[in-house]
Formats: sequence, C-alpha cells, structure tokens
Amino acid sequence: MARNFLTLCHAQTCGKCSPCRIGIGQLVNLLDKVLDGDADLSIIDTIEETAQVVADAADCAIGAEAAKKFLIGLKESRQDYEEHIIRHRCLDRVDAPIPCIALCPAHVDVPGYIALVHEGRCADAVRLIRRDNPFPSVCGFVCEHPCEKRCRRGMVDAPLNIRSIKRYAVDHSSNVPQPPCAPSTGKRVAVVGAGPGGLTTAYYLALMGHDITVYEKRKQLGGMLRYGIPDYRLPRDLLDAEIHSMLQLGIKTRMNVDVGFDVLYEQLRQEYDAVFISLGAHADKKLGIEGEDAVGVMSAVQILREVGDGKKPDFTGKRVVVVGGGNVAMDATRSSIRFGAHKVICAYRRRREDMPALVEEIEGAIAEGAEILPLHAPVRVEKGENGEVTALWVQPQIIGPHDTAGRPRPLNADLPERRLPADVVIVAIGQGIETEGLQKGNFQLDKRGTIVIDSEMRVVGMDGIFAGGECVTGPATVIKAITAGKAAASSIDRYLGFHHKISVDVKLPVPQLYDIHGLGRVNTLERDADERKHDYECITLGMSDQEARYETSRCLRCDHFGYGVFRGGRKEEW
Ligand SMILES: Cc1cc2nc3c(=O)[nH]c(=O)nc-3n(C[C@H](O)[C@H](O)[C@H](O)COP(=O)(O)OP(=O)(O)OC[C@H]3O[C@@H](n4cnc5c(N)ncnc54)[C@H](O)[C@@H]3O)c2cc1C
Ligand code: SF4
Ligand code: SF4
Repeated sequence: MARNFLTLCHAQTCGKCSPCRIGIGQLVNLLDKVLDGDADLSIIDTIEETAQVVADAADCAIGAEAAKKFLIGLKESRQDYEEHIIRHRCLDRVDAPIPCIALCPAHVDVPGYIALVHEGRCADAVRLIRRDNPFPSVCGFVCEHPCEKRCRRGMVDAPLNIRSIKRYAVDHSSNVPQPPCAPSTGKRVAVVGAGPGGLTTAYYLALMGHDITVYEKRKQLGGMLRYGIPDYRLPRDLLDAEIHSMLQLGIKTRMNVDVGFDVLYEQLRQEYDAVFISLGAHADKKLGIEGEDAVGVMSAVQILREVGDGKKPDFTGKRVVVVGGGNVAMDATRSSIRFGAHKVICAYRRRREDMPALVEEIEGAIAEGAEILPLHAPVRVEKGENGEVTALWVQPQIIGPHDTAGRPRPLNADLPERRLPADVVIVAIGQGIETEGLQKGNFQLDKRGTIVIDSEMRVVGMDGIFAGGECVTGPATVIKAITAGKAAASSIDRYLGFHHKISVDVKLPVPQLYDIHGLGRVNTLERDADERKHDYECITLGMSDQEARYETSRCLRCDHFGYGVFRGGRKEEW
C-alpha cells in the first residue's frame, strides 16, 4: 500500500525539485527491496532518513505531504517492515476484522454461510448461522442487514445481498434439527419476555444444559416479531416453525403471565438460580395534542398487537392518516391499505429524506397507493358530534437548523394550517418502556424508563437478575435484541459457575481462486403492488437457484483473503 501510494504521488509531482523527484523514486526502490526479500534490517533506517529529507526539503505539498504520510505509516507499521525483511511475509498480528461479520451485531459467519449456500449445502448454512443467531428465518426476512454496509464487494461493484442469501438458505432447508444440549447442569433460569431477546437467551442457555422457563404475558410467543411486524413481511408459519424448533431444546413456557403483577420479580428470583428480563418497548407514545382522545385515534402498536392475535380491523372505505416517519409508521400505513382503507396519508414533520423508515418501505407504501406528506406536523384532532375523529389538522413546516443528531429541525412555516379529513388517525411516533411492574420491583430505571444494567448485563443493585433487548436500549432492531440475548446467555452461564462454549461442526468450503469481474448485485423482486395490497401474503420473493449461485459467487471470501485472515477474523466458537 505504501509503495503504491508513493508511486502515485511520484507520478503527480512536477519534478522540479530534486528531493521529491529523486527522493520519492528512491523510496520506491528501497521498498521494492523490502518486498522482494532483498534487504536487511538496516534498510529501515535508510528509508526513514530518506523520507525525512523529502518531508523537510521538498518544495511542494505533493512531495512533502507524501513523505510525511509515508513516515506516519512507517512509524505505525515498523513491525510489518521487519516481518517482511525477516520472514518475507505480512505481519500476522493485524487486528482487522471481516467487514460483514464485524458489522452484523451477532457476528454471524457471513462468508462461511455464503460459501455453503454456493455449494448447495443450505442445511449446513442454517446450522452455521444458528451458532450465532437462532433466528435465521426471521432475519432472512426482516433483518435490517447492517452487515451489507461495508461489504468489500462494494469496492468492486456493489455489496452482496447478504440477507436474501440467508433467506435462500432457510427457504431451501426444511426442519434442520437443532444441535444436542450439553449435559444438564441442574440450574434453573427464568426468562421474562418471549421476544427475540428473551427467546435467544433461552435458546443458548438451554443448549448449555440449563433448565429454562419463559414467562410471557401475551397469548403467543414472539414479541414484536408477532405483535408488531406484519405477516406480509414476516410469514407467520415461518415464525411459528422457527420458534417451535427452538422449543425442541426443552424450553418450558408459561403464557399469559404478566410478571411484576401476576408473579413478582422477587418471587421469580427466589424460585430460580437466575432471571433474565427482556420486556421490549410496548408503551405507546402520545402526540400530546388537543382531541387525541377522539374515537378513532389509535396507536400503531395497539393495532398491530391486535393483528398479532388475528384481529384485523376493518377500515373499508375509511380515510386514514398515519402520523410518523419510521418503519412502524410504514407498517401502519401499508397495513391500513390491506384493511381496506379508501385513502391513506402518512404525515411526517420532517422531509422525506429525513424519514427513519427504510427507503424500500417508503417506496413500497407509495407503490401500494399511500400518500406520503412530509413537512407537516400534527396540531389537533377535530372531533364530530359523537366524539369521533373527523380530521387531523396539520401545520406545514420549513426546514431549520440541524439538531444534535445532524438532521435539520422542522420549524413552523409561514403558511396556514391544513385540514386532512380522517375517520382514523394512527399515531406511530415511537414506543416507550412499560415501567409500572418494574417500579413495583424497585428496579433502577434511567430517564427514558429503561432498565440500568452493568457491562455483564446484570441489573444494577440486583444479584442474579439480568436484562437486555429493547427494555434496556429502547426501540431498536431484531438482530440487536438477538445479540443482547446471546451476550446475556454467556453472562448468566458464567454467573452460574460455568464457561460453556457454543460451536458447530460444519466444515467450510475451501475458497476458490478465480478472477473477480464486475458483477451486478442480485436484488430480489417484490410481488406486484396492485396484487399484494389486497392480501397478507409475503411481499418479497426469494432468490431463484440461479440467482443464489450467481450472488454467492460474488463473495470475496474476506475470511481467507485480505486482512480478514488474521487475528480478529473468524471465530469458531463463542
Ligand atoms: C411494527 C414494528 C415493526 C418492526 N419491524 C422491524 C424490522 O423490520 N426489522 C427489525 O430488525 N426490527 C423491527 N422492529 C423492531 C423489533 O421488532 C424489535 O427490535 C425486537 O422485537 C425487540 O426484541 P425484544 O426481545 O427486546 O422485545 P419484544 O420483541 O418486544 O419482546 C418482549 C416480550 O416481552 C413480553 N413482556 C413484556 N412485559 C412483560 C411482563 N411484564 N411479563 C411477561 N412478559 C412480558 C412482551 O409481551 C413481548 O412478548 C419492528 C418493531 C415494530 C413495533
Ligand atoms: S443477521 Fe442481519 S446483520 Fe447479521 S448477517 Fe444476517 S442479515 Fe446481516
Ligand atoms: S465480500 Fe463476502 S466476505 Fe467480504 S465483506 Fe462482502 S460478504 Fe463479507
């Protein structure tokens, strides 16, 4: 890298002054000797002195700055130069992780499962994913895929479609058996909350040989996977099958138990050796405007929760206004269309480009017929004679100075309020934590009402009680809740006096050496908007066999090539 950098700078200089013209060329020659294994350690001092002369004496910025930057590199990587001279190889101590694995919060072995899918070994891919994430199906459909952000393939053409490859793996491997559990430890753990956070902890603790009971206040398991994310994005049969498979490890469930009320936290602590709390964020946030108590004003989470238990509202012929700009607002908007609404408007106080919702969700909602109304803030709800909502009044906004998060703050525009006729107003401006039960249990909560934990996920001031997921972080993502559940399982295992390891015996394919040509990314397709908006079937289509083979062939195997091969790369167990 240093050599290429110097060669580039040398080519760009005017060549009028000799320190730069000759000096940089000489540095390139010296580096060639190092790289060819044709040097002894004294060459490093010669390189340093030469670079220093160029830095001090070159007339222009290209020469002087090139030498200065090179000197910084030499200082930082001196050991790498020595390693080349002594052992003729790159240093074996570079701590550069594999981008996709590092950016997946659960550190799923992405190149490993991509290589397995490429070989048609989808069941092995699922087994490998489960080592770090027990929800491959769920994540194959709804993970926000942060792993793709810095995929190195982006330097060649475009990042891999990692999430869809995961979905292909689960679509092409039915009923992959779970691994056997470790011998029983005799320890009992209670998990409160059956969302992805709680179920992940239960899963890994069960694998470690502990006896697990999950307490859930609702009728069914899954948390926001069932009571938030709509079925047209996450098919319920797949969710049920994934949870059922996890329960096969012997996890017991106690449904319809509201912990903190039906049973107290201290009772659970006495009965079990440890307790893990993962309650999620289910409290509605209110708009705080006049008329919000009108009949027909409801929260998005309230509606989606009822849908989770099979109660879909009938909005036939109704005019719906959704307030908010995040993914929950998009789910409420797209669900309202499916509930038969005549017209759906999603009003958001900032610009469309500031909406936190994923671009594909916004575009999908528009394609299905929703109207997005950016830069309009709710002012009051208008009521009819019987207290029913008749309209939402909104104030047009103008963009103002940036807030602390770097987004332009909306301000009232010098324009009159607008009346949006409505029969239903859905509020989707975020969720908070339900704190009543926690307060009764004397939990330490922060300003937002989230549970305060230490670095080992122990609830501060409470021995043997751990917490994680959205009740600690506030609203986040599925994969973050899974990661919290995984970390909690590890902490609880240590607390109980064990150091179990989670590993899997899947042999990975050997990377192939072939030329990397520019190849476009396979973006999966969606069903036609006109068709899908009338039903609850899954919107996205999976990859075909041909697409999967093609897309998996684009992976650069950064676990073997590049710095990913070194320390900080693949982990065989956790
Ligand atoms: C509409 C919507 C759409 C979303 N879409 C996506 C998406 O596409 N991709 C994504 O990554 N994330 C998405 N999310 C976020 C994701 O669902 C959450 O980040 C994740 O479910 C949080 O997991 P958790 O285990 O912390 O909490 P939850 O999933 O909320 O689970 C908590 C569980 O605890 C139970 N519980 C609560 N209190 C008690 C009590 N006192 N006693 C017993 N049980 C209790 C609850 O009933 C619930 O089952 C979405 C969220 C919503 C609301
Ligand atoms: S779980 Fe999500 S972030 Fe992790 S590899 Fe899969 S798609 Fe990427
Ligand atoms: S090219 Fe493959 S291994 Fe490299 S970051 Fe992308 S998915 Fe990961």
